[in-house]
Formats: sequence, structure tokens, C-alpha cells
Amino acid sequence: MKKGKVYLVGSGPGDPDLLTVKARRLIDNAKVVLFDQLPGKRILDSIPESAIKVDCGKFAGDHRLTQDETNALLVKYAKEGHDVVRLKGGDPYVFGRGGEEAEVLVANGIEFEIVPGITSAIAAPAYAGIPVTHRDSASMVTFITGHEDPTKDDTALDWETLARFDGTLVIFMGVSMLRRNIGELLRYGKDPKTPVALIERGTRPDQRTTTGTLESIADIADKEKVKAPAITIIGDVVKLHDILGSQIVS
Ligand code: SAH
Repeated sequence: MKKGKVYLVGSGPGDPDLLTVKARRLIDNAKVVLFDQLPGKRILDSIPESAIKVDCGKFAGDHRLTQDETNALLVKYAKEGHDVVRLKGGDPYVFGRGGEEAEVLVANGIEFEIVPGITSAIAAPAYAGIPVTHRDSASMVTFITGHEDPTKDDTALDWETLARFDGTLVIFMGVSMLRRNIGELLRYGKDPKTPVALIERGTRPDQRTTTGTLESIADIADKEKVKAPAITIIGDVVKLHDILGSQIVS
């Protein structure tokens, strides 16, 4: 039997108008869609009724699908001859484990195609009036995972270098570890007055931007009950939020 093809599709940050034309077409014609909750309700609700839908982020039976189980399902559907849309929030290759899934597909001889999406790292701050680079204030930008296991001995993150980095820091998955991560930057000498923005549910109707400085933001986040999904932006570009304002999402 002919194997199906897997499309690793980025959904963008949540505003359905920010789906690429290709993502929209693939979703509209999908027969099997594997997803988690990150794309958001408005995009997930637009998956055709007729498609087989597998929520990989949900408790299946009594457990959440592990990455291995998700990989196995992708392979199973493709081997059965189905074309599969694997829908992921933002861009599949930016902290989306899309690289791992693609490797599994290659190892199993399954054809795949990557459909890049607009990453929340750029779109959420953009909607909050924060360009991640700016000629006057940031010539570099770096994407960081804020959710490394604190018990892991050999962290991949060199906070000393990050504290010295003179560009914009964008931290994904950083809400639960915010105080620890900010603490590391301060410990290695980053200016406590550096502006910080937390953008929750970027590009969605309930987007919220909370600002402060490195020394104040952890307390502000607690007070404001900032929750995931949120992206953390650290650097002088955050000051532009006051000038450029937040885009209204309808
Ligand atoms: N591949 C995704 C990132 C996946 S990691 C992308 O390119 O955007 C999940 C993290 O992404 C979340 O914890 C949060 O930090 C960030 N994120 C995703 N969508 C977001 C949104 N709409 N608003 C704010 N942060 C978002």
C-alpha cells in the first residue's frame, strides 16, 4: 500500500488570519489532523468536522500522549496510507519538537513536508507594539527556552553569556520559571532596570501585555497572575510598547 505523507504545519500564534495560505488549504482538505492546544480554539474549531482529529496534548485514557506516542501515531497513520496534517502552534521548528518528528518520519521512510508558521516570538511582541529588533536599540535577537528542568546538571543555557548579550532576549515557556531565569540574569550582572514585557495569548482577542523591569517583573507577574502561553521579551525594544501600543485583535 502507498504510504501517506505527513505535513508538519505551523499554525502561527493564534489569529486565524495569520495562518499561511498553504496551512489554511491543508487544514481545509485534511482527512487526519494531529494537534495539541497551542494553535488555540479559533484555529482548532476550523478543522473540518469530517477529519479524524487526535488531540495529542489531551489526556488519552489516563495519560497525556508522550512525544514517542505522538511520533508512533504519525507513523501509523502514514503507513496506513493517510495523508496527515500535524498542526503545531507558531512555527514547527521553533521549540515545537518539529525537528524530532521529522527525524522519526525520515527514519521510517515516510515522506514529509514542512510548512513554516509565524512564530509567537515575533508575532506576539509585534501585536504588543514591540519590534524585536530596532536600528537604535537592538541589532541582535536570541530565542531561549525558559523551561529547562532545574534538576538537570548540565544546562544548555549559559546565563552568564545571556546576561552579557546586548540584544533582545525572547524567552519561550518561561512563566513557571520566570523568577529563576530573571534571577540568573541579575546574578550575572544584567542591568536591573532592563525593560521586560510578558505577552500572554499573543494575537488572540484576550492578548495581554504586562511590563516591568528585570528587578520588578517577577513580583508584577505574580500580582497580575500571568499564565502560559506567554512570551517574555527582555531589552530596550520593550520601551516601544508605550509608543506603538497594542494592536486590537478582533
Ligand atoms: N512553536 C511555537 C513555540 C512552542 S513552545 C512558536 O513558534 O511560537 C510554547 C511556548 O510558545 C509557550 O509557552 C509560549 O512561550 C509561546 N507561545 C506560543 N504561542 C503563544 C502566543 N499566542 N502568545 C504568547 N506566547 C506564545
